[in-house]
Amino acid sequence: MTSLSRITILTKPEVQTSVQVYCLQCRDAACERVCPVDAISRDRNGAYVINYDRCIGCRECAYACPFGAISFEVEARPIKCDLCDGEPECVAVCPHDAIVYMEEKKAARELKKAKAAGVAYGLYGGKETPEYSRKKAEEAVEYLMELVEKSGELDV
Ligand code: SF4
Repeated sequence: MTSLSRITILTKPEVQTSVQVYCLQCRDAACERVCPVDAISRDRNGAYVINYDRCIGCRECAYACPFGAISFEVEARPIKCDLCDGEPECVAVCPHDAIVYMEEKKAARELKKAKAAGVAYGLYGGKETPEYSRKKAEEAVEYLMELVEKSGELDV
């Protein structure tokens, strides 16, 4: 069975930037709220899924989504990430392990660390903020280096 990707990559080559657009499985999802036929609901994995037996193709969900995470198939059916029933294919096929699927609380903790690492980069660029001491920043950089090593992309 083939399927269209639920991740859209927007690229801007002139500034060497690309952004991934995908469903964030919001806590209070606009797509679910606006659906006039209650075709969108949360499944047991916490993913918002579309019930195509109910969907009337009105596109309200796509207009409501603040992240542009809903697109349309040729036959005008809305499609979005549904976390592949708890085993995301994108995670399985990514050759650089750039996508990780984890429990929400753990993801929040990892995000905090990654944020700290980002701030640390700022610090070494000369933009120290009051929230982060040099020690914390060094720890964060260490963590970032671990991630980079794990990704296998750079030889550090
Ligand atoms: S489709 Fe958009 S509004 Fe709906 S859960 Fe995903 S990101 Fe949130």
